[in-house]
Amino acid sequence: MKELSKIALAVEPSTTMAIDAMFKQMKAEGQNVIGFGAGEPDFPTPDYIKEAGIQAIRNNETKYTPAAGTIELRKAVCQRLKEDCGVDYEYTQIAVSNGAKPCVYVALRALVNPGDEVILPAPYWVSYIELIRMVGGVPVVVEATEAENFKITPEKLAAAITSKTKCMILNNPSNPTGMMYSRQELEAISKVCVEQDIYVISDEIYYGLVYDGGQFVSLAALGEDIKERTLLINGVSKSYAMTGWRIGYVAAPAKIAKVIANFLSHSTGSPCSISQKASALALSASQDSIEEMRKAFEERRNYMVERMNQIEGVSCIKPEGAFYVMMNIEKLIGKELHGTVIKDSDDFGNLFLKYGKVAVVPGTGFAAPNFVRWSYATSMENIKEGLDRLERFLAGETI
Ligand code: PMP
Repeated sequence: MKELSKIALAVEPSTTMAIDAMFKQMKAEGQNVIGFGAGEPDFPTPDYIKEAGIQAIRNNETKYTPAAGTIELRKAVCQRLKEDCGVDYEYTQIAVSNGAKPCVYVALRALVNPGDEVILPAPYWVSYIELIRMVGGVPVVVEATEAENFKITPEKLAAAITSKTKCMILNNPSNPTGMMYSRQELEAISKVCVEQDIYVISDEIYYGLVYDGGQFVSLAALGEDIKERTLLINGVSKSYAMTGWRIGYVAAPAKIAKVIANFLSHSTGSPCSISQKASALALSASQDSIEEMRKAFEERRNYMVERMNQIEGVSCIKPEGAFYVMMNIEKLIGKELHGTVIKDSDDFGNLFLKYGKVAVVPGTGFAAPNFVRWSYATSMENIKEGLDRLERFLAGETI
């Protein structure tokens, strides 16, 4: 038999899935395990949004729509971007797809030729590096340390740019770090991108989950010269607890949006008509229920960060957005825990699940081997119990 595609064979399975699979197996066996791996809000989709989906079915809105999304939804996206981010887009500059993830893929498809370099700040969301490779791009990973608040500096960015650089991926607020760039920091990054003429895929999917009264700034809002190089990614998954509805979007200069729409029309076709109806309502109705979820996340973050920093051997910086905390385990590297010498966060993750009955995500997959990611998209009760278990696990107890 002939060999499969080299590009397809090179795609690595998601490392975040390995511990998750073990966690699910232990749970199925009836073990009392707690998971902190969730990449989605634990809240249900608000009722009024669900109702719009049900109504769409009843009204027979169950047919193909334009490949780039209905005009109703694309106009609702423009209105939200204007109100929340202060950026002006025409609906023809919006392409809707089945979640933000395929939007990142299609954005890379629109920009990258085989061999083009794509700058990726680390720690990064696992899918980015695989998506870059899937379009034949060459990832150039630039590390942002914890001391730098996990944010790439303009100097580091400039130093990574070569004649082959086509674009960078910026995720703000970030998965996995939860950190958010200030206006000033974004301006400095934007200046480098404009001067060096590189595009930016700006994944702003967590923009609605920002804490301590922090002000989210969209990269595209900084001026025309950066806006014409920005492919802004967002969607309804995180802000409206709609991960299963599969609706995300790209906002881009008209020429790029057109290329993306053409690509989508021949690959995925139109996104789900029912989900588009529900998403149009989510974006255009009152945003009050979103605020309730945001507040709950903020309380959980505060508790998690405070507790973690009281526990000997681990620490974390305070994330400003999203729903993740990066726990630093540097002090545990080389130490023996439950009969095993910890080499990296994979070892820690495996041991913590086995002896502490808690699943976290090792940072190895995010290019942050001395960190593990905790998601606080779970109940306060679970968070308290999870941190109690961490304390007991580190003291050598088996749960
Ligand atoms: N971007 C980031 C940074 C994410 O964390 C996620 C979800 N884990 C996505 C995109 C994907 O979003 P969607 O479910 O809308 O595809």
